[in-house]
Parts: sequence; structure tokens; C-alpha cells
Amino acid sequence: SAPLSIVRGSGEAAERGILMRTGEAFQGYRLVRTVVFDKTGTLTEGEPAVQEIVAAGGTEGELLAIAAAAEASSEHPLAQAIVNVAFKRGLAPPAVEEFQAVPGQGVTARIGGGAVLVGSPGFLKSRGVNLGSLAPRIDELETQGRTVTAVARAGQALGVIALGDRLRPDAAKTVAALHQRGLRTVLLTGDNERAARRFAAEAGIAEVHAGVRPERKAEIIRELQTRGRAAMVGDGVNDAPALMQADVGIAMASGTDIAIESADIIILRPRLETVVAAHEISRRGYRKML
Ligand code: ADP
Ligand code: MG
Repeated sequence: SAPLSIVRGSGEAAERGILMRTGEAFQGYRLVRTVVFDKTGTLTEGEPAVQEIVAAGGTEGELLAIAAAAEASSEHPLAQAIVNVAFKRGLAPPAVEEFQAVPGQGVTARIGGGAVLVGSPGFLKSRGVNLGSLAPRIDELETQGRTVTAVARAGQALGVIALGDRLRPDAAKTVAALHQRGLRTVLLTGDNERAARRFAAEAGIAEVHAGVRPERKAEIIRELQTRGRAAMVGDGVNDAPALMQADVGIAMASGTDIAIESADIIILRPRLETVVAAHEISRRGYRKML
């Protein structure tokens, strides 16, 4: 049976919107040296908005309709934003014959017999799409902190959709509080380096690993663990391997099922500061046991 202090701590945790899956997680969190944050949906609100559409040949409407059709079955926040804009504009997305999500990169679909790719510029390039004349525009948008989603059909680039997200209002405060407690913070994201650096600077995080695929996220956690125990805070399908690898996996309840299933601690309220509250409870629970 668990020591009384843990039971008591769990009660307080529950009151503050913290679900502790295991007593080990609760006890282990106080030993952590590094807290690693995912970007989209964790450090940011995860409600990106479409900010700019650049059509390469056809119309904006065509580009958006094809992208929305391909993204319709994706649970990624970028996909939802694209689908919403297409809907608001009254566009009728074409029928989708096949769909596949490629976590951390984008989606593939078959539409009207043509292979459609929607995802990061790097993803399209890796599938042999030449972004050619769009490249300078992509650079510019990423420098502004945008997440650029490129769209291609039958190997031809149709254009890009630039999306922007907002830092959670308590992100900087949360990071500062963790630093005060002597913890290191790291940003780990699949998004582009420029957008990642911009959000990291705003939040006060110095160490950034961007453009990282889901399996690589877990490897980076392993590398960070050579410097001491690490906690990972994430929400996406792409974060699941890293949440499992971390000594303490922390998932936002607003996240995907697989992230929640992979975590030891679940943050029930959309407040990042709860990550600090959980650390405090973990520390105090330990002291009470002595
Ligand atoms: P993060 O680590 O910030 O949560 P992800 O690993 O989910 O981001 O995604 C990394 C990048 O892959 C995104 O920034 C985006 O460019 C691309 N991507 C992933 N899924 C999708 C999707 N469904 N539609 C468009 N782009 C996607
Ligand atoms: Mg995420």
C-alpha cells in the first residue's frame, strides 16, 4: 500500500487538476533535472489559424479544397485549422479515396486518382516534390514564425498554407518558475527551426531541437537523460515515444489518446503552470515521507 503522504498528495493533485497515473511518477518527478516541452498544443495553444495562402498555379480555393479534403481525417491541429477555413469559405472538398497520416510530417491521400501530399516543406521534398519558386516565400513565412504547410498533387507543388499559433499565456511564467526550481528546460518540436526559435525565445527556453521526427524525439530524450532524469510534456501522437522514454511523461488532457496513454501524469486543465504545481506536490510529498 502507498504511504499516507502519497495518498494525501494525490488528493491535492486531483484538486489542482493533476492526475497521477502511478506513485512512481509522483515520486520520480521531484528527481527530474530537465523538463522538455513539445511546441504545438503544449507550449502553444494548439489552435493554429490560417494566416496566408500562396497558390503556385491554380486558385487559392482549389488549393484549400484539396488540402482540406486530404486533412479531413487527420486529428492534427494544423489539419483542423485548414478544414475550418475551407468550410468557412464554403468550399466543397473533393472525395478522398485513400488517407494516411505520417506523424510529425503530414498526410498523404488519393484524390481524383492523384496522389496528394500535405505537410511540412521537408516532407514534400523527401517525397520528391520540387518546391522551386515557392522556396523564398516559405523562408520568409517561417522567419515570421509561421508553420508552413505545403500541398502537392501528382508530384507538383500547388502552393503553401501558412499557419500561426499563439504561445499559452502562462508559458513564460511556467518556464521561469521551473528555472527558479533549478530545472533546465528544452523545446522539442517537429516544426521548423525558425518558428521553434521564435516561440522558445518568447517562453524563455534556450535549448531548442526543431524539425524532429517522433522516433528521434525519444532519442533526444535518451541523450538528455545522460545529464540526469528528464520529464517530457506533450500532447500529440508524435510525442508518444518521447513520453514513454522520459522518466516522467506528462500529457495535456486536451491531447490525443495515445499521448495520454503514454503518460504518467495528466494535466486535466488547459494551464501549463500545472506542470509546476505537480513538481511542488511531488517535492512536498517526498518531504512528508521523511
Ligand atoms: P510538434 O512537434 O510541434 O507538435 P508535429 O510533430 O505534430 O509538431 O508536426 C511536425 C510538423 O509536421 C508540423 O509542423 C507540420 O509541418 C507537419 N505536419 C504534421 N502533421 C501534419 C498535418 N496533418 N498536416 C500538415 N502538416 C503536418
Ligand atoms: Mg504537439
